Amino acid sequence: MRILILGGTREARALATLISGDGRFDALLSLAGRTANPAALPVPVRSGGFGGADGLARFLKEGGFAAVIDATHPFAANISANAVAAAQETGLPLGSLVREPWREVEGDRWTTVGDVRAAAEVLDSNPRRVFLTVGRQELGAFAAAPQHSYIARTIDPPSDTALPPDFTLIQARPPFDVGAETAFLSEKRIDVLVSKNSGGEETYAKIAAARALGLPVVMVARPHKPVGVTLTSAADAMSWLEGLSGSHAPPSPSISRRGV
Ligand code: NAP
Repeated sequence: MRILILGGTREARALATLISGDGRFDALLSLAGRTANPAALPVPVRSGGFGGADGLARFLKEGGFAAVIDATHPFAANISANAVAAAQETGLPLGSLVREPWREVEGDRWTTVGDVRAAAEVLDSNPRRVFLTVGRQELGAFAAAPQHSYIARTIDPPSDTALPPDFTLIQARPPFDVGAETAFLSEKRIDVLVSKNSGGEETYAKIAAARALGLPVVMVARPHKPVGVTLTSAADAMSWLEGLSGSHAPPSPSISRRGV
């Protein structure tokens, strides 16, 4: 059974690892191609956009795929909308592997905002030392608050965009641990952390470190991400695929929505 995994996440990697050892499935993992040197994966990989929902639908038909798993990042909403539309067009079953968001717990000092631009707006009017962990694509939003001193951490360098004047880049790849994050925030005398609510364990250490130090966090809420059948883990996705492979014909083209 040929499966397309839309990836770029730890969950996609976990599913690829499970599926690679299972002879019933022939999986291809798709990356957007944003990361210059993606880590090796245990299944074949293709890279780059499909050309919208129609392009994805064409790719699915021409490639003889029987199901799609959308395991993209919670902030990657466009590819998920395309996956839902392409699943409808092709009649293929679509499973969406969406990790849980982080929840505020006692001791957290979060200000939740709707997007990265709003995060730049809610920063203090006085100069602050700000740690940015919002990826590399939207760092230009902080040029609107040039009074602050920024340290941003990304995997690849920022895209060619106007950055704030006092800006330092650190390139690093998760996972990160709480001890190192706490030491980093202290040594760099960070006043406020800006984060996307990505969820997951690999990057949660900075949130725990901010809590331990009593630092405020500007938390960017998730965008609306269209989904197919909601799957909660790589193991759950495997069970769903096993259910599909056990039936002689693919299930009906309808997409059930169990919510994000
Ligand atoms: P996006 O806004 O949802 O997607 C923009 C376009 O990139 C899509 O329309 C599609 O192009 C292409 N694309 C995205 N994911 C793809 C995939 N897995 N395979 C092939 N094409 C893909 O996504 P984004 O926020 O730019 O994120 C890009 C990728 O990085 C995602 O795969 C995501 O899992 C990963 N990622 C994103 C974040 C984040 O904060 N956004 C964080 C970590 C990892 P076409 O329309 O031409 O098909």
